[in-house]
Amino acid sequence: MSKIHVLDKLTIDKIAAGEVVERPRSVVKELMENAIDAGSDQITVEIKNGGIDYIRVTDNGTGIAREDIKTAFMRHATSKISNIDDLISVSSLGFRGEALSSIAGVSRVELMTKTNTDICGTRYVIDGGRELVFEDAGVPDGTTILVKNLFHNIPARRKFLKTAMTESSYISALMEQMMLSHPEIAFKFISNGSVKLQTNGDHEIRNVIFKLYGKDVFDRMLQVNLERENISVSGYVGKPELSRSNHNYELFFVNGRCISSTILNKALDEAYKSYLMMHKYPYAILYLNIPGEYLDVNVHPAKLEIRFLQAEAVYTAVTEAVKFALQNKELIPEETEEENPPVRSIQPAMIIPEPFEREHIAALQASEENPYRVSMPEKPAIQEFIQAEQISFLSEEARKSHRLIGQIFDTYLLVEYDEKLFLIDQHAAHEKIRYERLVRQYRENRNDSQLLNPPIIVSFSVPEADTYRKYKDQFIKAGFEIEHFGGNEYAIRSVPTELYGLSETDYLKELLDILSEIRTNADMESILAHLATVSCKGAVKAGKKLSSAEADALIGELLSLENPYNCPHGRPVIISFSKTELEKKFKRIV
Ligand code: ADP
Ligand code: MG
Repeated sequence: MSKIHVLDKLTIDKIAAGEVVERPRSVVKELMENAIDAGSDQITVEIKNGGIDYIRVTDNGTGIAREDIKTAFMRHATSKISNIDDLISVSSLGFRGEALSSIAGVSRVELMTKTNTDICGTRYVIDGGRELVFEDAGVPDGTTILVKNLFHNIPARRKFLKTAMTESSYISALMEQMMLSHPEIAFKFISNGSVKLQTNGDHEIRNVIFKLYGKDVFDRMLQVNLERENISVSGYVGKPELSRSNHNYELFFVNGRCISSTILNKALDEAYKSYLMMHKYPYAILYLNIPGEYLDVNVHPAKLEIRFLQAEAVYTAVTEAVKFALQNKELIPEETEEENPPVRSIQPAMIIPEPFEREHIAALQASEENPYRVSMPEKPAIQEFIQAEQISFLSEEARKSHRLIGQIFDTYLLVEYDEKLFLIDQHAAHEKIRYERLVRQYRENRNDSQLLNPPIIVSFSVPEADTYRKYKDQFIKAGFEIEHFGGNEYAIRSVPTELYGLSETDYLKELLDILSEIRTNADMESILAHLATVSCKGAVKAGKKLSSAEADALIGELLSLENPYNCPHGRPVIISFSKTELEKKFKRIV
């Protein structure tokens, strides 16, 4: 065995960097947290090539005094705590004193900084942990940090990074979180030379929501506000009609930090239980203020997941707050302007020239790899038994001898046929009919579209815009005509003729959701599999009374389907009881 020895500083920093710096997103996060801790109210983040080649974070905070600069880059150098007691009470964002040393260990870092008492600023360059430059520099008050060539000295880690498009989508999601957690800060996010997101730091959460999600979403948000024992819950949640197909639009901020928590996801599920269909999730931007003793302080500060020591109290507070907001909506028969106070027109924050801000003309990365990682739901399983058992039931011939008994529980249609009692789930049936129609339309490449005049203007979030760009051809094929309208706005000029009961924008957003969840490049087949969700939305709900003519028409349509026996999610559409089974139950026969 080789002799035990203490690792040198560079190696230690490289190892430590692995914990703090996982990908460009983590660098941006650490640098932004430092900027926030430094009291900044203007922060610009600029990236190139997904942050792999270039990250710039400029703030207008306190700056770092010249004599402190080198110390700041030492491991466990921090101005934020001095002993273990501070750890418990600390309110700042980062406090391990590891970020700067770790980042400088795995990239080339250039720091430009000036405090308002220094006459001249300083430029400090450190590459792979080695100091290269320490000199005077004429810079404004505040700090700019450039991080170039991340992991250039650790090829194994660099290889591990995803494509630039994926890395940049992680960063833009982080920017959204930061913007929502700090409405008092004017943020600007620039990627490959163009401004992607910007807020104005006017303290108004609703202006941030408006900026990030657009007017159509904002108009359908409800305000949440509840104080319960020591827990306060505030923010906004979407009306049920705004539902999405994944949890991505549920954001939680606990004591100012964006965190993820399955308990909180569940609390939302519970609150929306009677409002949303299965596998549908709301928009939520919720701010929780919770006493420190309710939180598990041992959770790693870099980790997003949080643990609550009083989980039940937190769960109940969130569920009640959201339910209350949803119910309140129902008490107001007509929506009033008051529901969401009008958004003030948003002026860009006062612009101070930033070091290193230039007009970068760079072509957008036309990466082919899909940035989204959520896997596809399983394909519907065909229930062989029901198919084999009932294959005669829906033939033209069989239909002549159907006796439609009626509808029960406003949900199931009852039909007697061939010594059997058939129960049809009207919602599942309708869903399946819509689904197969959709599939047929796409297979036959019928892109009938209708012109919208005037066009509808929608706002896309950054991931939505990415998805749209990636699948532009498919959208055209499907009958959409969409034009970039400036900023995050797009004009929908045409939509497919058949929207399956959804509004034009809902249909489009639904498709974007579906496409964003497909792991690899979507082929027709996988799009079709996902369209099940779309068809489900517009289908006749369980709980709707059908006339016998409507019921008959529904059964008639079922006849024409390739597989009428399972809904697109794999649940049965038709079940049956044989006369014999009933007789056994009544003990007429044994
Ligand atoms: P930590 O944030 O955990 O203290 P870092 O390595 O991130 O450790 O930063 C080290 C120190 O450098 C901070 O404590 C702070 O004093 C100083 N610093 C870093 N970034 C900035 C900034 N943008 N503005 C002012 N001071 C900063
Ligand atoms: Mg820090």
